[in-house]
Amino acid sequence: MPKMGNATAKAALGRSTWHFLHTMTLRFPDKPTKEQRKTLQTFFENFALLYPCGDCARHFQALIKELPPQTGSRMNSALWLCTVHNKVNERLGKPEFPCDKLDESYDCGCGDDPKASAGGTAPAA
Ligand code: FAD
Repeated sequence: MPKMGNATAKAALGRSTWHFLHTMTLRFPDKPTKEQRKTLQTFFENFALLYPCGDCARHFQALIKELPPQTGSRMNSALWLCTVHNKVNERLGKPEFPCDKLDESYDCGCGDDPKASAGGTAPAA
């Protein structure tokens, strides 16, 4: 397979990463426990340190300092992520995404009711 150009590879990584992150927050429990909230917060702090695109990671670290991860509920975390993604969109000159359309855009294909996942951050497949 031919090697992708840098910009194409960066965009492909970004697109799949955002898809994963939005799907994850939309599966986060409606009523998370203290431990689940901490897990999500730590996840995003570590994610910001480890994201493979260095420039993106530095910017995202600053972004989550300004807008810390919201972990109080599924909608809280999903809307927070939509807002920070829109901040990245703004920086890159991309259109703002309507956050009220979030639920319609992301489906994990897990075949169960996401509302049933309130018992854990990683619902059974
Ligand atoms: P993407 O932004 O990848 O979005 C994919 C799809 O998600 C869109 O087509 C749309 O359907 C949906 N979407 C768009 N906005 C939202 C939203 N707010 N909420 C929910 N869904 C939405 N690239 C850089 O060049 N510089 C950077 O500094 C940079 N920082 C990044 C930081 C992070 C944490 C990540 C994950 C990616 C970053 N990227 C960066 C990559 C960049 O954000 C895009 O992923 C890439 O440019 C491809 O853009 P795209 O137009 O395909 O849409």
